[in-house]
Amino acid sequence: MTHIVKLRPGREKTAAHRHPWIYSGAVDSTDGSPKPGELVTVVDSAGAFLATGYFNRASKIRVRVLEWDPLVTIDEGWWRSRVAQSIAARAGIAEKTDSTAYRLIHAEADMLPGLVADRYDDVVVVQFLTAGVELARDVIVDEIRERTGATAIYDRSDNASRAREELKPSSGWLVGEARDTVEFRENGLDFMASVTTGQKTGFYCDQRENRLEVAAFAEGRSVLDVFSYSGGFSVYAARAGAASLTLVDSSSSALESAKWNLEKNGFASCNPEFVDADVFEQLRNYRKEGRKFGMIVLDPPKFAMSRHHVEKALRAYKDVNMLAMGLLEPGGILATFSCSGAVAIDAFTIAVSWAGNDADRSVQVIKRLSQSSDHPVLASFLESEYLKGLICRIV
Ligand code: SAH
Repeated sequence: MTHIVKLRPGREKTAAHRHPWIYSGAVDSTDGSPKPGELVTVVDSAGAFLATGYFNRASKIRVRVLEWDPLVTIDEGWWRSRVAQSIAARAGIAEKTDSTAYRLIHAEADMLPGLVADRYDDVVVVQFLTAGVELARDVIVDEIRERTGATAIYDRSDNASRAREELKPSSGWLVGEARDTVEFRENGLDFMASVTTGQKTGFYCDQRENRLEVAAFAEGRSVLDVFSYSGGFSVYAARAGAASLTLVDSSSSALESAKWNLEKNGFASCNPEFVDADVFEQLRNYRKEGRKFGMIVLDPPKFAMSRHHVEKALRAYKDVNMLAMGLLEPGGILATFSCSGAVAIDAFTIAVSWAGNDADRSVQVIKRLSQSSDHPVLASFLESEYLKGLICRIV
């Protein structure tokens, strides 16, 4: 028998609507003391079944729901089939898009809360972000290996969110031989990433589809790629015929990777300029120098860590977009992103319009963007729609 977690009257609605997080404030009582990650049955205030999930008293998210069907038991077979289902849903990406790097498991949005897995060719990088998935670790790793045929699997659970679960960071090779860099394809282009030391799990696969959309405007333009990381947008812009490339990032290792990625695809002849600098300062320097660009890609790190930081984040989005707009030639293109889950697309669009006001420019949105389809959004959990972007013409 699993432990029972009973919700407070009036606090059952989100769970009943398939939102997978049950906050501590919604819990009326818990029978016994479930261990971190242990399975529990969630019931409403009248005692009727709502869901099965895993528990962690250390986290404000007291329960993460795994299953809404009262007849289904969560056992080894359950974990295996859900992992297999998630991987099967990505069938076709490799062949249809000539891409060997993409997300296999997108946590809550793949109904596997706390679990992330990214494929980079024959290597899979996994993140166990909660005690609940930590307990199922061996089965998960084994099923991933079987379903993908990966020759190596790397644990990259050094994410700060583990501390909220009172879990220590963990990392290391779980399957296969140690290596630092992996090479892979994305939309017919070659890339490399360091899965052990790179950001996230090594690369930003969530921008895969957006890179194509953005590159469609690059031909003949001088492109400034700020917060470039390993140069994903720049490599695509080079293929599309950009007139020049300037990449700005404050991580020298990211710029090293960007250099490798551009050279590997034969784009060294574009004479890309790599600038190791703070973006805010560098944009101000360009303003002083009177430098102009035909296109700017602006893909900053997360500015809002939670919903409490939204207002401050919107001001930062406004500031950086204003600086960028001031550097665009008339009719220039700004591809601007926010990866803050707490900042909704409408609020972000308003911040961009304020930036236009302050830069004395009009902003036409030509396209709205989201994360790539291997990072699905769970409709009952809009927190999973974290990436949003706008391609704008600045007039
Ligand atoms: N556009 C990239 C992803 C960007 S991630 C891609 O397509 O892969 C955000 C990047 O911003 C990281 O590489 C990080 O090193 C960089 N960064 C964060 N703060 C910065 C700052 N103040 N100035 C310059 N770069 C910064």
